[in-house]
Amino acid sequence: RAKGNGRGRAEIFDQALRTELEIRAQLESDIRSGLAGDEFELHYQPVMSVATGSLRSYEALIRWRHPQRGMVPPNEFIPTAEESPLICEIGRWVLARATQQLAAWTRQDPDSHGDVTMAVNISARHLASPSLVEEVRDALHVSGLDARRLVLEITETVLLDEPTADAHLRDLRALGVTVSLDDFGTGYTSIGQLQKLQIDTLKIDQSFLRSDDPATQALVRLMVTAAHAFNLDVVAEGVETQEQLDRLVTIGCELAQGYYLGRPKPAQDTEIAVS
Ligand code: C2E
Ligand code: MG
Ligand code: MG
Ligand code: MG
Repeated sequence: RAKGNGRGRAEIFDQALRTELEIRAQLESDIRSGLAGDEFELHYQPVMSVATGSLRSYEALIRWRHPQRGMVPPNEFIPTAEESPLICEIGRWVLARATQQLAAWTRQDPDSHGDVTMAVNISARHLASPSLVEEVRDALHVSGLDARRLVLEITETVLLDEPTADAHLRDLRALGVTVSLDDFGTGYTSIGQLQKLQIDTLKIDQSFLRSDDPATQALVRLMVTAAHAFNLDVVAEGVETQEQLDRLVTIGCELAQGYYLGRPKPAQDTEIAVS
């Protein structure tokens, strides 16, 4: 009987695994047809200067206008895409679209967009890909955008276990592209390690801003001080209230992003583009 039970459990496990694999395979094939059918779009969220309230940058955030499921947020398909070479195809599309968008805004309105940068999220697998540097060069060439106006956002996992990532970051920065470390504080990078990384900007994860705990606030202050000591710009993510913004002024954090300052919006709805 014990044997029978064991086999039963193994069959249930097998079935669950098969279902999981089938769901993933289906999602991958949907993403592929989504790319072919032009179902993805980018929304743009402003990054503002805390002191002047002026626009510093946009972050391009992908959405999937799925024919059956409606608007699908990135957390529902990017993690699966990251397990296959599909993430590199998505990344290439995002790079091309985002650089063309900023170039178009700049042509339409050079006075308010001349210094604005565009930030694009790059997954670990894509950063390790041998063709990334060429793809970035291509995107800049086709759009005509200056390399200094492109920011690549990467997360800490990239820096820990990919030896090629470091070489690619060096090449990208040699082109003039800026690199930003996203979601800082949620992973394993210590403040001391920041000094050695190939980065220009630190984005403090939104969970830190959310907390009213004095110890957490002291930690944010420490991150900002360390970043400045290492010559990094600092962006606070997830600013939702005036109170949080005031706190950033006190701490000396110069850049901020969040719903309070502007939500991610499609290109045609971004405030400055309409004016
Ligand atoms: P992220 O790069 O850390 O982007 C910030 C996320 O926080 C975005 O979620 C943004 O909409 C959200 N956010 C901004 N301000 C606030 C706020 O004040 N409150 C709250 N609660 N949320 C705020 P979104 O667009 O759903 O993207 C989630 C994640 O998906 C991104 O996190 C990024 O890791 C990934 N992602 C998005 N677009 C791309 C892409 O084009 N390529 C890749 N590889 N990943 C992407
Ligand atoms: Mg980001
Ligand atoms: Mg982030
Ligand atoms: Mg994130």
